[in-house]
Amino acid sequence: MIEIPARKGRAVRVRKGQRIKVINTKGQQVVDTWAFNADDLHEFMSMEHSRVAIERIIPGIGDALVTNKRRPILTLVEDTSGGIHDTLFAACDRWRYEVLGCKDYHDNCTDNLAAGLAALGLTPPETPAPLNLFMNIPVVGGNRVEVRPPVSTPGGYVVLRAEMDCVAAFSACPQDMVPVNGLEMRPTEAHVDILE
Ligand SMILES: [Zn+2]
Repeated sequence: MIEIPARKGRAVRVRKGQRIKVINTKGQQVVDTWAFNADDLHEFMSMEHSRVAIERIIPGIGDALVTNKRRPILTLVEDTSGGIHDTLFAACDRWRYEVLGCKDYHDNCTDNLAAGLAALGLTPPETPAPLNLFMNIPVVGGNRVEVRPPVSTPGGYVVLRAEMDCVAAFSACPQDMVPVNGLEMRPTEAHVDILE
């Protein structure tokens, strides 16, 4: 079991056929999730390509997320979290927090992705739009997007099956200026388990 510490990121190598269990340990934590082809980091899970493939904006059980080369990379096979995730929002970055009024450096998912991959000796070619697990961004009135607290509860989890050898990365989103991680706006740890 791998802990994703509050506000931090981790990355792990996953083989084709293994399953990744992402656990919302405290229940209100968004986990930004990425997957890169282990043989070519320039091929990665792409939200814009995945929305075309699955014909919706939130993946459901059996939906395969695809890469920027439109090949399946992760399939959602189990979800006990309430089924609400986000594919629309970019990963947070230092500039997002500057826009929100933060004057000093703020932990962010973009830097967490880079740090997670750096621990494996890798560098992401860019920051792809993440699969924002547990993130609740409803489309209201057909066009407006709102930031709401997650619907998941402690211990809720999703399981993603790897469809190719990949490098998966996770960030326990450090957002504490809007209620994306719950109304208390207090980021917490999450956990990841790799299952055979
Ligand atoms: Zn974030």
